[in-house]
Amino acid sequence: KANRLMKSEDTVIDVSGVKIGGGTFTVMAGPCSVETREQILEVANSVQKSGAQILRGGAFKPRTSPYAFQGLEMEGLELLKEARKETGLPIVTEIMSPSHVAKFAEEVDVIQVGARNMQNFDLLKELGKIDTPILLKRGMSATIEEWLMSAEYIMAGGNENVILCERGIRTFEKYTRNTLDLSAVLAVKKLSHLPVIVDPSHATGKRWMVKDLALAAAAVGADGLMIEVHNDPENALCDGAQSLEPKAFDKLMKSVNSLVTAL
Ligand code: PEP
Ligand code: MN
Repeated sequence: KANRLMKSEDTVIDVSGVKIGGGTFTVMAGPCSVETREQILEVANSVQKSGAQILRGGAFKPRTSPYAFQGLEMEGLELLKEARKETGLPIVTEIMSPSHVAKFAEEVDVIQVGARNMQNFDLLKELGKIDTPILLKRGMSATIEEWLMSAEYIMAGGNENVILCERGIRTFEKYTRNTLDLSAVLAVKKLSHLPVIVDPSHATGKRWMVKDLALAAAAVGADGLMIEVHNDPENALCDGAQSLEPKAFDKLMKSVNSLVTAL
């Protein structure tokens, strides 16, 4: 179902009125984690002013260490909903457990499957039974074929609203957190009709690289971006080093918008 041979025209996904795919360019932005009401409302308002169309924020966080901040969980989800109400921005947040699928389907606009759960097939099967758009991140060691097969799991169940997200893969290189595979954008667009966005924040782990790689993503034809933005990156509870301050995000949006218009 994800195969381009089955459907030649690009799939356009409607996220509560915001279109993803088919020639539009959509930016999702916000903090790695929802931390406090003040934080999420401040970041939501600022990314909206800069032109982001969707608000991101983690409530359930897949942390490498069990002792690291795990997210505000359901309280984080409530705060995201409050930020949506205040700004009108649809929200995307990560799901970790199949037991949360029904609640997320009711309450969020896009359900994110993180890199670590890309092959959690039980979770993918549950997500196939709803019709909420799914943002499927590429697993950190997944081939393009494995990634598309995970999309296929969701689509096979009947949910064809899948957005792919390239977020960097693990290679021998250690300078960056991951290695951003921009050729995967071209490959996926050839192999599939699904939209694909790029997350240069998790791909690099370094805020100074984010804007240039966002531009590169737009240049290779990605359908949009996911960017981490924090009002106080130095004190962020998660991923501060890769998070842009609102001012830097505003600059990124101006550059990306002028490139996208020129393309
Ligand atoms: C995230 O988006 O905050 C995240 C954990 O991303 P990934 O699954 O790509 O590591
Ligand atoms: Mn993060």
